[in-house]
Amino acid sequence: MVLADLLKGKRRIALGGHVRPDGDCVGSAMGLYLYLKKQYPDIETDLYLEEVPQAFQMIHRTEEVKTELPEAAQYDLFICLDCGDIKRLGCFSTLFEQAGETACIDHHISNEAFADYNYIVPDASSTSELVFTLLEDEKISRECAEALYMGIAHDTGVFQYSCTSPKTMEIAAKLLRKGIDGNEIIDKTYYEKTYVQNQILGKALLESMLILDKRCIVSVVTMKDMEFFQAVPSDLEGIVSQLRQTKGCEVALFLHEISFHTFKVSLRSKGMVDVSKIAQYFGGGGHVRAAGCTLKGTSHDVINNVSSQILLQLNQEKVQDNEE
Ligand code: 5GP
Ligand code: MN
Repeated sequence: MVLADLLKGKRRIALGGHVRPDGDCVGSAMGLYLYLKKQYPDIETDLYLEEVPQAFQMIHRTEEVKTELPEAAQYDLFICLDCGDIKRLGCFSTLFEQAGETACIDHHISNEAFADYNYIVPDASSTSELVFTLLEDEKISRECAEALYMGIAHDTGVFQYSCTSPKTMEIAAKLLRKGIDGNEIIDKTYYEKTYVQNQILGKALLESMLILDKRCIVSVVTMKDMEFFQAVPSDLEGIVSQLRQTKGCEVALFLHEISFHTFKVSLRSKGMVDVSKIAQYFGGGGHVRAAGCTLKGTSHDVINNVSSQILLQLNQEKVQDNEE
């Protein structure tokens, strides 16, 4: 994919990312947005995302993100970032469908290349890494570098997951040379937690259960919990990764009740189980070691259904693949 070719003749373009935007989604979208605003001032560029979580608002110009679907808007091009399928765009999928042309930049193994132009690299650490490769290094501003660095740091678990390649580190180094404060970005957007976030994390860990002969750990946060803590969904970020750290567990399964008997399911694996296959089986998607889906039923139903799929895989060979 060549950015200049993609933009040729376009007057109005929109960018969008997945629902419940995470660090890579916000980082890649903001990175591309800031680059386009500076390098292509004649193109009208809008960025659509659900509300940007508080911690990510340290990224420059996140206040310009449009969080609501406009009544009427027609774009010459819609670029979809970090989105494995069109449903993941949420309400903004209509803008995608109505756009003159569409493009997708993504690293999800489950992505079925649903746009006119697709730049999908499942081996890439993050969509932010892919966005970097589309830009001209010398034209990347410090603000754009901050956004992309945040995205890469988040999807690599701070340069730690197996998806972190030498290329990832080279790109991170190039971004650091823009004069950004990498430590501050990681500290403020990744490690720092509010009191409420720590409290819910504590509850989720305290109430977690070991299943499947202690090879899988499960925890549930209900609507009642969310109400009690006055929490928002982004407050749950990081719980499933913490569950995954549990010694002896191959898979972590985290359920967040988003409406009555409907659960957002997050799966993490250490490598023996391909959780993207499990998520896809239930209509979701993701990566080999980090995936998700939404399921209906009681928490017991959901845990039973998902764990039976985990069990099917547990005795299979170790999967050597990409992490989030
Ligand atoms: P999380 O558990 O953090 O919500 O998601 C883990 C990974 O799986 C992310 O890369 C995310 O984009 C993907 N994912 C989560 N839920 C869904 C889903 O319902 N559908 C698809 N296609 N991907 C999902
Ligand atoms: Mn990503």
